[in-house]
Amino acid sequence: METKTLKPYFVVIALFVLTSLALAYTVDVTVTDRAGVRMDLPDRVAGWAGQELRFCQNPVCQREFRVGDLKGATNCTACGASLDTMTKAERDALPPDTEIIKKEYRHTSGNVLYVTIVLSGKERASIHRPQACLVGQGNSILNSVIVPVPLEDRPPIEIMSLEMMRKIRAPDGRAMEIPTYFAYWFVGQGRETPYHIQRMVWMATDRVLHNVSHRWAYIGVSGSRRLDSDDYKQQLQAFVKDFYPHIVVQ
Ligand SMILES: [Zn+2]
Repeated sequence: METKTLKPYFVVIALFVLTSLALAYTVDVTVTDRAGVRMDLPDRVAGWAGQELRFCQNPVCQREFRVGDLKGATNCTACGASLDTMTKAERDALPPDTEIIKKEYRHTSGNVLYVTIVLSGKERASIHRPQACLVGQGNSILNSVIVPVPLEDRPPIEIMSLEMMRKIRAPDGRAMEIPTYFAYWFVGQGRETPYHIQRMVWMATDRVLHNVSHRWAYIGVSGSRRLDSDDYKQQLQAFVKDFYPHIVVQ
């Protein structure tokens, strides 16, 4: 009895959901060129000095360079192949209008951080959950934790930190694992979230309700951590706090 009276509502709800999905993925939307981030990583962030990275596109070489070490060379100094701001694997996997910028940051204390910004192009397929790529690159994810970052003159943001073990080969050839982390959050026009699902909901509602598709970006910060301590989080918070105003368009 109860089920019978509710049945029409289920049909209406199902139709509503299907229509929304159809609209979200078929209507013509205005693709905006405006991004929520600046694709220009600062050279200095508090005690950190940054150097942009370049990647050899020859699949058998694949060397990585700091721009400063290239001394003006525009091709790979080992094999002569072209260099790009992303790796060959990223170039092959991502839509051609995806923009990536990467910098290595060294602190006066000797610590090193890597920052990556991926900005989607027109196809909007450039940004996905970083987890898939990281696992493919020989990392195992132990934990996903939210790290709040207090900011100057605005409410704190939350970023997602994946605490991982990365398989590497030691100089003597032994396989070993080192503790690392990869922290990230997604940035659209006036929107920020550490959750992939929240970004998908915003993308769908922007398309259906506002007829617009923004260029989303993700910002990733990675480094090493210690197995017996959480102190990498303080370093990450301090870095993002100083880095944030350079990058996110308010
Ligand atoms: Zn090369």
